[in-house]
Amino acid sequence: MKPSSFVTHLECLVCGKTFPHKNIFTCPDCGVQGILDVQYNYDKISQHLTPNTLNLRPLNHWRYRELLPIAENIPLPHLHIGWTPIYDVPRLAKEIGIQKLFIKDDGRNASSSFKDRASSIGVLKAMEFGFNKIACASTGNAASSLAGLSAAVGLQSFIFVPKHAPEPKVTQLLIFGATVFKVQGTYDDAFELCRASCGKFGWYNRNSGTNPFLVEGKKTAGLEIAEQMKDNLPDWVVVSVGDGCTIGSIGKGLQEMKRLGFIERVPRLLGVQAEGARPIVDALYSGNDLLPAQTKTLADSIDVGVPRNWRRAIQQIKLSNGEMITVEDEEILEAMRQTGKLTGVFGEPAGIACVAGLKNAIAKGMVKPNESAVCVITGNGLKDIRSAQSAVGEALNVEPNIGAVEEMLLKKY
Ligand SMILES: *Cc1c(COP(=O)(O)O)cnc(C)c1O
Ligand SMILES: [Zn+2]
Repeated sequence: MKPSSFVTHLECLVCGKTFPHKNIFTCPDCGVQGILDVQYNYDKISQHLTPNTLNLRPLNHWRYRELLPIAENIPLPHLHIGWTPIYDVPRLAKEIGIQKLFIKDDGRNASSSFKDRASSIGVLKAMEFGFNKIACASTGNAASSLAGLSAAVGLQSFIFVPKHAPEPKVTQLLIFGATVFKVQGTYDDAFELCRASCGKFGWYNRNSGTNPFLVEGKKTAGLEIAEQMKDNLPDWVVVSVGDGCTIGSIGKGLQEMKRLGFIERVPRLLGVQAEGARPIVDALYSGNDLLPAQTKTLADSIDVGVPRNWRRAIQQIKLSNGEMITVEDEEILEAMRQTGKLTGVFGEPAGIACVAGLKNAIAKGMVKPNESAVCVITGNGLKDIRSAQSAVGEALNVEPNIGAVEEMLLKKY
């Protein structure tokens, strides 16, 4: 396999030291903090990636393959990834008090979450580097997505989930044929156990917090927002934040599209964390390095006490002149109801936290009512039915006759 000829090298986000493009995780000088960033030859990319060439390409995230660190001519997974729809949702906009609101429904990816963007790169890197086994630790979505993509390309997958991972996500894993370890501990325990197991058993580690290639897949959401919205680019891109990879890479994707001349400015990033899991918000506004935190939130996908990619998240938020905000669990549930009812899109708690965060940011004056925003709905609501049930009431039990229906309608309205 011929490695990408568009990738030039990897660069440490802490000390700036550079490394050749190879199977490597963090910078040896900086330890686990030394997240590596993939660097490209943008002059060369700009000769291949133009509005004209893009027009001829399939509507999935492989259309940006020069901007992805994947081997040339590697066979691509058959599952559909990316180019998720962006909807204009005026009734939800009115409800939360902003002039123009869009939602990008990333629950429409193959395994029903944003994580497919990263996992699709993960399996290709494993193959490029000669592995046939791959592993990850995840609160759920990264895992189910990796298991699905592994099934699609024929890799064996090993998954570490915390004991509180929602059942539907664990069921997805088992259906996709993964070996699943339910770790009797937190996500952070699962993360460490996975890292140690990859070292000991020789598996490729998909953990997006520290794997420099995975986050490149997540950046395609930013590339898509730029391309899909170039004629009405929003003021804000709103994203929920756990490890920080998602917002950091969406920021990178938007910056690249500016650099390549597809857009003239980069929208401001608004990062949203749960009030019960806010270490990156605290690091951003204190100016200090991140302090690990105890966490508690029903939004399992962003329940991260020790985020690995906080530096990239903060760097991109600052570069875009962005902000961060927190939301209470109750506010997430409220936003789930409102988004479902006013748009027909059903998101999981972490997927909808961004909508709740935008509402808070408007209330605080951070976002102005006359501005525009796109919220990235990162996961489908069916992935965590229990939380959704706590957001809504019960169905109406009715006797099978029209009189009973009429009576109920009178009572309800
Ligand atoms: C993983 C995930 C996030 C957050 O992404 P990070 O890279 O951890 O910040 C948000 N929403 C959903 C549904 C996720 O699965
Ligand atoms: Zn370094």
